[in-house]
Amino acid sequence: MGRRWFHSPKYTVDVGAHTFPTVKFQRTAESLVAKGLLQEKDRVEPTLPSRDELKLVHTDEWCTRVLDGTMTLDDELRAELPWSRALSDAHALAVSGTLLAAREALATGLGVHVGGGAHHAFAAYGEGFCLLNDLAVAAAKLRAEGAVKRVLICDLDVHQGNGTASIFKKNLDVFTFSMHQEEGYPKIRERSSLDVELPAGTRDREYQDALTDRLPGALDAHRPDLVLYQAGADVHERDLLGGLKLTDKGVAARDRFVFEACLRRAIPIALTLGGGYSPKIEDTIALHAGTVKEALSVFR
Ligand SMILES: [Zn+2]
Repeated sequence: MGRRWFHSPKYTVDVGAHTFPTVKFQRTAESLVAKGLLQEKDRVEPTLPSRDELKLVHTDEWCTRVLDGTMTLDDELRAELPWSRALSDAHALAVSGTLLAAREALATGLGVHVGGGAHHAFAAYGEGFCLLNDLAVAAAKLRAEGAVKRVLICDLDVHQGNGTASIFKKNLDVFTFSMHQEEGYPKIRERSSLDVELPAGTRDREYQDALTDRLPGALDAHRPDLVLYQAGADVHERDLLGGLKLTDKGVAARDRFVFEACLRRAIPIALTLGGGYSPKIEDTIALHAGTVKEALSVFR
């Protein structure tokens, strides 16, 4: 039997000409299946989360706006997304996708969500292509159930995980680790449990040094029962929205390091894909698929 994985083709939504090509996760899934790394029969389709699940981290008001289509123009501008039923469903389904992947991680060591990573979603509003914070809901839900106590959210997207940091700023059981570019989006930063800021132009070796320097210490100090990984591919040198200069190899080394760090410590890890905005969508797909490949190779 193959490894179960989590993804919905419904993540692909028509949002017009947009910086965020919503089809990238579906194309990544198709690429992984075509390569034989994942099998379609092992794909688990997420179902919509309950409002109560979302309300573990989001305000009732925000849930209503997203789920019932009453987002204001300001809401849409801040999220940089036009509301539609399909869009709302896509973002809600991705919350379940990450929760399912986290449950799979607890059962098998690794959970693979081909999607997710909406780290700019705050409790009461969305921002930067993110409406509902799948990472935060997954952490909160599993904690509420008593399945885990301590969680570490390892956010290596080129942009700070500001929504996640804000949601858990008073929760010492959820450690938010964010390593990102020091300038650029988001302009106003939140305080994560640990922020590691890298200057624009940072290359593979300096990046890997910083990660090696900071992540193991955070894992050993916090001793999480679960890691949720936001593996944004926008750290890549050709990314349109990031200024770091990682090569394909640098991104693969980053991912391998995170998976090995968790495996070595017997900490379950759930993967979400996050940002990735190469001028050619094929490059983004290859990077996301590469991240999944590293995960499968480490957790063989
Ligand atoms: Zn990003």
